[in-house]
Amino acid sequence: MSALAMAERVHAQHTEASDRSPSLDRLIAGAWTQLVAHRAVECPLCGEQMAPKYGAHALPIGGRCLSCGTELT
Ligand SMILES: [Zn+2]
Repeated sequence: MSALAMAERVHAQHTEASDRSPSLDRLIAGAWTQLVAHRAVECPLCGEQMAPKYGAHALPIGGRCLSCGTELT
């Protein structure tokens, strides 16, 4: 296999993977958008339920996974 063919193959695999799976930025931004709308989301780490976390004010200040304890703040 030539170097060019190998590079094209690696690029194609990388492009397919990025089309199928969300980037970390999109994953966290999507979860954050739902949390500030007072909605529970899927924990990005374990897949269980992450509930909005509240501070002194009415709007959520982040989220906390009910299973593994991961927090988004
Ligand atoms: Zn979790």
